[in-house]
Amino acid sequence: MNVELINTGSELLLGRVLNTHQQWLCRRLADLGYVVTRQVAVADTGQDIEQAVREALGRADLVITTGGLGPTSDDITRDLVAQLLGKKLHEDAAALANIERFFTQRKRVMPVSVRVQALVPEDSIVLQNRHGTAPGLAMELKPNQFRAGGKSSWLVMLPGPPRELRPMFNDQVVPLLKRELPLESEFVCRTLRTTGIGESLVQEKINAPLAALVAKGLDVGYCAHVGQVDVRLAAHGEAAGAVVRDGEGIVRALLAKEIFGEEDELLEAVIVRRLTERKQTLALAESCTGGAIAHRLTNVSGASAVLLASLVTYSNAAKEKFIGVRAETLAQHGAVSEATAREMAEGSRRETGADFALSVTGIAGPTGGSEAKPVGTVFIGLASAKETVLLKQFNPYDRETFKQATANQALEMLRRAIFG
Ligand code: ATP
Ligand code: MG
Repeated sequence: MNVELINTGSELLLGRVLNTHQQWLCRRLADLGYVVTRQVAVADTGQDIEQAVREALGRADLVITTGGLGPTSDDITRDLVAQLLGKKLHEDAAALANIERFFTQRKRVMPVSVRVQALVPEDSIVLQNRHGTAPGLAMELKPNQFRAGGKSSWLVMLPGPPRELRPMFNDQVVPLLKRELPLESEFVCRTLRTTGIGESLVQEKINAPLAALVAKGLDVGYCAHVGQVDVRLAAHGEAAGAVVRDGEGIVRALLAKEIFGEEDELLEAVIVRRLTERKQTLALAESCTGGAIAHRLTNVSGASAVLLASLVTYSNAAKEKFIGVRAETLAQHGAVSEATAREMAEGSRRETGADFALSVTGIAGPTGGSEAKPVGTVFIGLASAKETVLLKQFNPYDRETFKQATANQALEMLRRAIFG
């Protein structure tokens, strides 16, 4: 199956907006077994869009376009495609009702211009937009006049805003693909997420044990993020389910300690869920991460049942005043030290009454390092009723990556404690 993706929008070519649809759609499609063979981004000019759609329809079984379905003068994808395919536009009653409801719910007057979004080309399936006003569109070109032999193709047009496109794809396009463009052979894909181990070590551990399954068609992929490595297992064909299941068994046995989740699960979500189940609470005393750990945890729905407080004690004075780090400790060992990390964790636990307290203190750089404590040095503390454990790490990266890596190590330290 040939799948092509066309992302429209001059902002993508001016570098004003990151083309996240390219990554998100390719990833979702690949995990479903549909591999995108070609992708282009084109400006919002009639000629560029028309040429890209015409060319893609000449080759592909499925063409997906994104953007340009809105009401402004640069939103021309719908009109252009209708023209190119020789289809008339008509007003879709359900799409219009959705647009009207969108404005009534927000107690806003509906501008006349938005009504054009209810215009849809004849013979198209209207994908209603639950998070916005412009509906998506799907149509089968049967025969497809642009393709040699007139072989049929599907054209799916999705709105630009990610919060509209993603649910529309998941809820409406995926079922459509399964129904109208089923895969030629079965496809199974599974992602296991690890942390606390590097990419090459992951590969070293599982490569040889998986070799026999690879010979049977198992496809193994690695994807490294900051502090995290995903292992993707995929296979096609009748035996796909068994091959992936056996592969998963091997990987789980070899990386039992490192695997924290599956598919798109986040480390922080796994932690919030586990602490909620155990009815336990958490406090944070952050210095060099500046609240990055709290940010990640509070992105998880339900975090309020778990997270009591996050104190960003950046200065020495704040460390003393709010979480009782002793002046002598700071003078003798410095703010970036095991002793300070210990007192930060124990102090924030004491002050908040949480079951667990995590602390981080380190040197993000690029200035402030010394021979004994170079830029990138971090101390992480985890206090609980049982004990306080400390960990020294070295993350010599740019500030943003330093924060991400440190937050990950701290969360991982907690995860191992609550899953141990
Ligand atoms: P609208 O009704 O909001 O105008 P639209 O379907 O016409 O939606 P566009 O105008 O092309 O879509 O894009 C709207 C916004 O969606 C862009 O300003 C941008 O922020 C975001 N967007 C568009 N394309 C992409 C993309 N490929 N990746 C990430 N974001 C995108
Ligand atoms: Mg627009």
